[in-house]
Amino acid sequence: MTPLPDENATRKNKINAPRGRFAPTPSGFLHLGNVFCSLLAWLYAKSGGGKIILRIEDLDAQRCPRANADALARDLEWLGLFWDEGAYSGVGSENYFQSRRSAIYEKYFNKLTQEKLIYPCFCSRAELHAAEAPHLSDGRVLYSGVCRRLTEAERQSKMQQRRPAYRVKVQDETISFTDGHYGEQSYNLAHESGDFIVRRSDGVFAYQLAVTVDDALMGVTQVVRGSDLLSSTPMQLYLYRLLGLTPPDFCHIPLLTDPDGRRLAKRDGDLEIGVLRRQYGDPRPIVGLLAYLAGQLPKPEPISAQELLAFFDPAKIPMHNIVVPRELLPGS
Ligand code: GLU
Repeated sequence: MTPLPDENATRKNKINAPRGRFAPTPSGFLHLGNVFCSLLAWLYAKSGGGKIILRIEDLDAQRCPRANADALARDLEWLGLFWDEGAYSGVGSENYFQSRRSAIYEKYFNKLTQEKLIYPCFCSRAELHAAEAPHLSDGRVLYSGVCRRLTEAERQSKMQQRRPAYRVKVQDETISFTDGHYGEQSYNLAHESGDFIVRRSDGVFAYQLAVTVDDALMGVTQVVRGSDLLSSTPMQLYLYRLLGLTPPDFCHIPLLTDPDGRRLAKRDGDLEIGVLRRQYGDPRPIVGLLAYLAGQLPKPEPISAQELLAFFDPAKIPMHNIVVPRELLPGS
């Protein structure tokens, strides 16, 4: 197997100014949590003199109507979070929609197939949750590897009955990386996820494969995203290695939560950016509130993203998740 790319060689490949990205999934509308992440990704890239790409992660086209992506792009612009390249930026911008990139993912998927690094998995959802697959403390299931052990004859026979998903074989080894915010991280995929899915049984490529291929081909050197994706990073680093691609630097940031500590989601409809946009009519109080929550301002006060750039200090971003103080929002 190809070794992990040499750290120094990787650095040399990186241009000094970072290339960051917004990578929203338009399965719903942008909410305050997504905007928090976009604002920080923008500040990280821009404060380093870099660029931002907008990639629409609409892999699951059924769940991600184009109208959502359109609205999301308009909201980012309204917030002053302009991007330099990508979706909604003229010629070639369709290439930044994952729903248009299946042929590219297929090429990398075929490479994994040819090198026998993946195998079909016929397990149903119910089987995956069966007792033999231990559950991890955070509710994720550790795949038992049952389909990895099928004989060729068994595989052929199952192929007649159902369309498989595809999993990549992981190894019992430690994958370490330095996160830009959370520091040294070590994972063993064999103990933490087991062989993971790179293509679903309906043929849709999995997030882990698509995001790896896209970040590499789009020349992204700096990934800033929510800490809920920290445990996806070793899977992506593993794919970078298998595919011979150069990984970016990873920086995970705390999540915004409701008072119960739950990550903001669609149920928190009042924190949808469209709603806040109508209530405030001006992006500056929203950016100011997010800047305050990110430790950049002593109290929430109106400010533009551009103005924030002058004193952005990543060291001030909290380590722990952040409860959104509802009393600071309009209408409360
Ligand atoms: N599309 C993912 C999301 O909206 C983010 C993926 C990533 O940043 O790697 O949660």
